[in-house]
Amino acid sequence: MENCLHCGKEIQWANNKKKYCGPKCSKAYHTAKLRETKGIVERTVTCAHCGEVFTTWSMQKVYCGWECNNAAQTERKKKLVEEKRNADLL
Ligand SMILES: [Zn+2]
Ligand SMILES: [Zn+2]
Repeated sequence: MENCLHCGKEIQWANNKKKYCGPKCSKAYHTAKLRETKGIVERTVTCAHCGEVFTTWSMQKVYCGWECNNAAQTERKKKLVEEKRNADLL
C-alpha cells in the first residue's frame, strides 16, 4: 500500500502506480513543488468574462476557463462584425 505524497493518506486505488490519493493532492503537490523550485507565485485573477475569481500560474490567463474564453471570443467577433457594419453604414 502506497501513501499519498502530499497528505500521507493511504491510497485506496486498485492500481498502485498512483502517487496521490486524488487529483486534488496531485495538484497541490505539484503546486508546492513549483513554488519551491521556481519561486513562481500563483496569481489571483478575476475572470474578464464572468467576473469569477480564480487562481492560475499563467501570466496570460484572463478567463476562468475555456467556456468563458470561447464566450468572450464569440462576443469579440460579434462586436467586430457589428462595428464593421456600423462603419459601412456611415
Ligand atoms: Zn492525498
Ligand atoms: Zn469566467
